[in-house]
Order: sequence, then structure tokens, then C-alpha cells
Amino acid sequence: MAETFDVVVIGGGPGGYNCAIRLGQLGLKAACVDSRGSFGGTCLNIGCIPSKALLHATDLYTVARLDFPRFGITGTPGFDLATMMAHKQKVVGELTKGVEFLFRKNKVTGIVGAGKITAPGKISVTGKDGTRELEAKHTVIATGSDVVGLPGITIDEKQIVSSTGALEFTSVPKRLLVMGAGIIGVELGSVWRRLGSEVLVVEFLDRIVPGVDGEVARQFERLLTRQGIKFKLSSKVVGVEKNGDVLSVAVEPASGGAREMIEADAMMVCIGRRPYTDGLGLEDVGVQRDKRGRVVTDAHFKTNIAGIWAIGDVREGAMLAHKAEDEAVACAENIAGRAGHVNYDAIPSVIYTYPEVAVVGKTEEELKAAGVAYKVGKFPFTANARAKTNITTEGFVKIIADAKTDRVLGVHMIGPDVGNMIAEASLAIEFSAASEDIARTSHAHPTLSEAVRQAAMAVGGWAMQM
Ligand SMILES: Cc1cc2nc3c(=O)[nH]c(=O)nc-3n(C[C@H](O)[C@H](O)[C@H](O)COP(=O)(O)OP(=O)(O)OC[C@H]3O[C@@H](n4cnc5c(N)ncnc54)[C@H](O)[C@@H]3O)c2cc1C
Repeated sequence: MAETFDVVVIGGGPGGYNCAIRLGQLGLKAACVDSRGSFGGTCLNIGCIPSKALLHATDLYTVARLDFPRFGITGTPGFDLATMMAHKQKVVGELTKGVEFLFRKNKVTGIVGAGKITAPGKISVTGKDGTRELEAKHTVIATGSDVVGLPGITIDEKQIVSSTGALEFTSVPKRLLVMGAGIIGVELGSVWRRLGSEVLVVEFLDRIVPGVDGEVARQFERLLTRQGIKFKLSSKVVGVEKNGDVLSVAVEPASGGAREMIEADAMMVCIGRRPYTDGLGLEDVGVQRDKRGRVVTDAHFKTNIAGIWAIGDVREGAMLAHKAEDEAVACAENIAGRAGHVNYDAIPSVIYTYPEVAVVGKTEEELKAAGVAYKVGKFPFTANARAKTNITTEGFVKIIADAKTDRVLGVHMIGPDVGNMIAEASLAIEFSAASEDIARTSHAHPTLSEAVRQAAMAVGGWAMQM
């Protein structure tokens, strides 16, 4: 006999698990199905969390190596990759177990197995111990995304890896070729560069980190280059051959032209991610998808089939854990008859390298294209007292405000710890703040966040500390 729920959520990533938890809080009987065997999805298992564990560890190592002597701290630091990896795995284990705890706390039934929608309201889950039939008034698709490969290039997750394999190298590749200068490429490229790899990033476009404000991206490229990461822009990988332990990677100009062979010991393919709906049965049920395979929903996360909803990486929008989480909350509230919504203009995006990059809202490029008149205020970390004490003076804060109303439209930062500082900017945008509101808000001294206040003052032409 089928087990019945108010809502079955398929996928246990930040979209799925947060949706199930919020449904539980709202008094609905929810189940969350995930095939992975450990909840938390891409984010907790093979994404945000393991990558940040390695980024933090390797940043500490770099600071110890390069900055400690400048502070008068002596000694020669070294690293043990196995311990670094064990730390990463421990954190992943603790956080994924944490999701199970939150399920228990909110009376969510966690089910391990592959979910398939056999008809609206009917879900069949195939796990190790056989198949369970579930019935629910609502089904939420939160099956996330998967790595995009390239025809002719086989990812073995040992030598030719996706981000997943790049989180698991058992030794430091001497020469690492990274295909794609997006966020994941520069983050994981940084990890291995810091541990000694010669890193070459090949990117199709003529710039790195597409979507990030152009001025920030140019400064970012300069700073990463100074750290020893090499970029080959406007270029494409067209093939790879394995010659024993060495890879011969064929690279051509993006617009076509002479082929060049580049040797590497490992290659990471990170040219994007695709919505993952394999085996879900969407064709049979008639759930509409767009040309890119994303599940189509309205602004309330409803698909074209009554009672089926979709959130997170599997639908349109930025592939970010907190975007999935925001949609999860709004979708759960809509299912419960409330009025959940997401303000996409206030969703930040962070690159956790050194320096960090953190952005929210519109870029100058977007505003120009839309014909919106704006004013800009900028403040460099070289003029921030705390950045000076910490020897972390690279980068700047840039605030863009509407020319007429002064409303904050975008905040773009590159610098130390800006990933934490962007929350203030998101809040400002969420509350429709003016740049003057930020400029007149007290910021503790001496903190890096004073750079945000000074940039806001600069919008009005009265930055006082430069
Ligand atoms: C290396 C890397 C680093 C990242 N770093 C960041 C970061 O720092 N910050 C950030 O915001 N984002 C980051 N991301 C992106 C982030 O991980 C995703 O945006 C987020 O996980 C999307 O959440 P989701 O719930 O939509 O899907 P997912 O997290 O992908 O979860 C979907 C789950 O559904 C399961 N599933 C799929 N089909 C079925 C089925 N039929 N039945 C049962 N289960 C199924 C999958 O196994 C998976 O566990 C990173 C991604 C990667 C790869």
C-alpha cells in the first residue's frame, strides 16, 4: 500500500531539504527523497562545503607561508594533504548528519532512493531494499544539477576530473589545466595553485567569471595572475589525449585557428552545470521543460501540471545554494497557502578565493544595457585601516545607485572577507535602501566593513577617508 504525505520533495539538496523542513514547520506531513545516501545534495556533499573546507585550509597555508614572516611569526609551514582531505570529509559528514537531525526535529521523513513521478501525486522510490510507493497532494522537484561534459572528453574523476574529482586528488598535480574560468574553475584552481600546482585556465570568453561586474573581473584576473594562475582567454579545449600519466590537451582560439598542444598532468572540466532530471519520469507526466532542460515554472514555482512544483538548480536562475534555499522557503509557503516570494535582485554571489569577490544586484553593464541612469561610489581597501593592519589591502568596494532616487541597485566588491560583508548590501537592496542610508549607518571601527560605508559616501561625493 502507498505511504501518504501532504508533500513529497524529490532531491535532498539545499532546495529540497530546506523545503521539507519549512513544510514540517508549517505543519505539513513532508517526505524528502534523495538517491545519494547522504542528504545535503551537491552543496554539502560535493560542492559548497568541501570546496570551502579546502579553500580555507589552503588559504591558511598561504597566509602562514607568505604573510606570517611579515607579522614576525617565524617557522616553515608545510602541509599534509591527507589530513586536509580528512578535515573536509569530517565537515561534510557532520553537516549531512545535521540535515537528518533537522528532519527528525521537523517531523520530515527522509527516504533514500531514486524518485520517479509515475503520475501526478504518485511517486515511486527505488532504493537498496526495493521500491516504495508514495502518494502526495504536492510533489516538489528539487533534483538539482549535474556537471556538463564535453563530447569526446571522458571524465574519469582521476586524471580528467569534474569539480567532484578535483576535490579528491590524492596528490598535488604538477600541471593542472582548468577548462572554464567560472566560479568553480577559479576556486578549485586556487586550491591547487596554493598547494603548488602550475595552473593554466583555458576560457572560451575574453574575460574570467562571466556575469561579474567587468571592472571587478579585470582586477580579479590581475590578482589571480599575480598569484601564479595563468589564463588563456578566448580559447577553447578541443580534445585531449592520454599518454601514460601525461595529458596532451588540444587548444584552439575560440574563433578558430591554429591548434596548440598543451601538456598537463591533470585536467579539470568545469564549463557549467545542467539541470538534472534523468529518470524522474517528467516526459510521461508531461512536465514542461525549456530548451536547456530546465523545469519551467511560474513565479510561484508551479509547473504546468497541477500539484507539481520545482525549485533550485533544476529551474531557471543562478545555480546557487542560497537561491535554492530561498525558493525552497517560498515554495513551501505557497504550498501551505501563504504568499512566499523571492527577490532575485537581492541574491548575492560570492567567489571564495583570495581576495574574495562578492556581488549583489545589477552590474554597470546591465544598467547601461537597460538605459538606467546611475552613479557610482568606490572605495579601495588600501585606504581602510583594518585592511592595512591585516595586510589585506587588495581590492575595492563599488556601490551603484540610481542617479535620481539614490536607491542602491548593485554592490560589487573584491577584497578580504567580502563574502561576509555582502550581507549588508543584500539587506540594503531588500529594504530598498538609498546609498545615503548606508553612508549614515554607523559601522564599527576598525573593520573592513567601513569600506562599504565609505563607498556609499563616495556615491554622494563625500567619502572622507581617501
Ligand atoms: C564545486 C562546487 C562548489 C559550489 N560552491 C557553491 C558555493 O560556495 N555557494 C553556493 O551558493 N553554491 C555553490 N555551488 C552550487 C550549489 O551546490 C548548488 O547551487 C546547490 O546545491 C543547488 O541545490 P539544489 O537543492 O537545487 O540541488 P542539489 O544540491 O544538486 O541537490 C539535488 C539532489 O537531488 C538528488 N536527486 C536527483 N535526482 C533524484 C531522483 N530522481 N531521486 C532522488 N534524488 C535525486 C541528487 O542526488 C542531489 O543530492 C557549488 C557547486 C559545486 C559543484
